[in-house]
Order: sequence, then structure tokens, then C-alpha cells
Amino acid sequence: MKVFVLDTDENPLNPCRPSRARQLLKQGKAAVFRRFPFTVILKYRVDKVPEPLRVKIDPGSRKTGIAVVNDDTGEIVFAGEIEHRGSLIKKNLEQRRNVRRNRRGRMRYRKPRFLNRTRPEGWLPPSLMSRVLNTETWVKRLMKAAPVTAVSQELVRFDTQQTDNSEVSGVMYQQGELFGYEIREYLLEKWGRKCAYCDRKNVPLEIEHIRAKSKGGSDRVSNLTLACVKCNQRKGNKNIEDFLKRKPELLKKILARAEAPLKDAAAVNSTRWELFRKLKAFGLPVEAGSGGLTKFNRTRQGLPKSHWADAACVGKSTPEILKTDDIKPLQIKAKGQGGRQKAVLNKHGQPKQHRPLKPLFGWRAGDMAEYGGMSVRVTPRTTGSFELTPVKGGRVFSRSYKKLKRVHRSDGYQYS
Ligand SMILES: [Zn+2]
Repeated sequence: MKVFVLDTDENPLNPCRPSRARQLLKQGKAAVFRRFPFTVILKYRVDKVPEPLRVKIDPGSRKTGIAVVNDDTGEIVFAGEIEHRGSLIKKNLEQRRNVRRNRRGRMRYRKPRFLNRTRPEGWLPPSLMSRVLNTETWVKRLMKAAPVTAVSQELVRFDTQQTDNSEVSGVMYQQGELFGYEIREYLLEKWGRKCAYCDRKNVPLEIEHIRAKSKGGSDRVSNLTLACVKCNQRKGNKNIEDFLKRKPELLKKILARAEAPLKDAAAVNSTRWELFRKLKAFGLPVEAGSGGLTKFNRTRQGLPKSHWADAACVGKSTPEILKTDDIKPLQIKAKGQGGRQKAVLNKHGQPKQHRPLKPLFGWRAGDMAEYGGMSVRVTPRTTGSFELTPVKGGRVFSRSYKKLKRVHRSDGYQYS
């Protein structure tokens, strides 16, 4: 992990080591420009063309991994994990909907007027859109801090071209090869990420031959499914008809699904497409990778499963060797920018208490400050005695805002 460096005009330069940044700060040759991601600004001119870097993204539903990689040296300059607030947004909107519906129900009936609720094309639910926007925000921030010249994103779960052909023509798959990883991702999608026999989810799944190999079953994708360890062992090399003797319905379903190839569209979801479009709009070349390739790269590098490591392994551009020593990813938690509601509502939707105007004494919830050499998160109070939460954990305490030294203004994210 390195520190981002800007020149006097706020243009990104080559990132430097933390020790070098400390030295520059100590000598007064640089100043802290931004805490998250940590960026310093130089106070003297530098005329050097920076080395190109690549931002790499592995979008996930709960967390999105993001990494800045130097393709030439295999160095990971920055790693982070963005935690989204999708479910919270959904909950809030549902709550609002219920309050509105309740209020409407209390009024005299009025006929609906006209259809003024059409959705624009490409509309995504706010909970999904927030994931796209969070990621976009962070790519923008990294582009301001580092000399980024390319972007990689995991777009599809599996490489459709490879797997499509194999459904038809029956290409053999081999474990450990890239193709094997693509097939696995394909099967996960096709069989709904669960055991085909007992529907169990979130357990290790094994690739399973519907017609056992020992009985002449092929290695074609249409003869493969996924089963949990237990079911796989219990089935062994039995005929599927014998194994599912008591479940004729299930047998029919499995055989029918096995024959039907998965459509291209299943490989990519709408959120990822939207992100891809947004990234293209930055004007940089965007490389799209598949989930199979990411996993293959990560396994080859011997990296443990994590969001940032997946991000660093996205796409064909991944360097042969990634330097992954002492990487501590920045944990970024989306917190939103706060609402515009002027009153706190009770459960019936009636105003309970008025909210003070923001900011209070120049502070907002989520600002970070220093108090007695300790980093704290600030929750302003109208009395002027603010609630302070130590970043490194510990008890919440209250102190006057006058005793605080600002470190970082709230920007919609919480860091650790
Ligand atoms: Zn099972």
C-alpha cells in the first residue's frame, strides 16, 4: 500500500511509500491533502511523467472490492472494500411507503388520476443504484489521487463464448485450468448456487456427473450439475433414476434443466451493466473480466478469498505476480449523506420532534476529529457538548466542540 501524491496543481504523481510521505510531511515539503484515501500534496514543482496505474473492481452485492494496481510491476498501490447500504435503503423506502399508504388510507377515496409513475429506461431500484453510485464515486476519487489510465471490472460471471460452445459441442473440461473455473461459475449460475438434489445453499458444492462417468456419462456441460458433499457421496456412481426413485418430480426437473443451456443474459446482472456503462463514460479503456477468470487468477497467485484480492485479480491484464505483502485494505462503509427530513416521525407518521439545522457549530455527524491525541467520530449535539466515538473502539464520551481538532469532513463514508 502506498500514499497518493499530488503536485502543486493537484495533478496526480507517482504514489510513494508511507515512510517517504512521513519524511516529506516532517520536512514541510508536503501537506496532507485528504485522509481517505491518504493523499499528500507537494509544495514544490515536479516535472516527471507518472507511471500508468489501473483501477480494478469486483462488484458485489454486499461489498465491492477495489484495487489500484501497477500492471508493469505487479504492485498493489491501494486496496479497499466498500460496504454498501442496499438493504438499509430498501428498508427506509418501505417504511416511507407504508407511512404514505397509511395516510392515504385515512383520506376519502379518490380515483387514481393518470399514470404519472412511469420509470425511465434503465431504471434500477434505489438499493441497487446505490451500489453503482458508491463504486462510481470511489473510482472518481481514485482517479483524482492517482495517475489512472485504465479500468478493469468483473462484468460477467462466466465467459459466455467458451461455455456456450461447450454445451453444444461438448468440450471436455479439466480441473485447475481456466476453462474449469469458467465452467464452475457457469454451473453455479445455471443451478441457482445450490445442491441440485437437496436444495441446500451456502455449503461447499462439488461438480457432479448426472450420468456417472463409469457408466458412460460424458464430461459435457449438459451432463454436469452441482451437489453438496453429502449428496455427491450418497449418489456415488448410481444411476440417477435409481438415486431419485422416490422423487420422480425432481428427477424430471433435473433432466430437463440439464439439457437447457443457460442464456447469455444470465451471465451478467443489471447492476454490473449499469456500472460498466458509468465507467465507460469516464473515457478510459474499460476491461471486462469474468468471474471464472478472477477466481483462476486468484488461485494461481495463492491469495486468500477477499474482496480486495478478487478486485486485484480481475481481467486478463492481471500481472503474472502480484505483490501482496502487508496489504491492509481500507474498509469503506457507505453511510449516506443524511436525510432532508425536518422532523423525526413516530410510527404513525406524525412529527415527534424537529431536527436541528445542519451543520451544528460547523460540524456534521460522521466528521472525524482529534481529541487529546485520539481519533474520534463526532456526533454533534445542539448543546455544544458533542458525542465522541473513538475510532479504535472504546466508550463513547462527550466533550465541547471547542476542544476538537478537525481531521476529516464527513463524505458519506465511514472508514476503518
Ligand atoms: Zn445435497
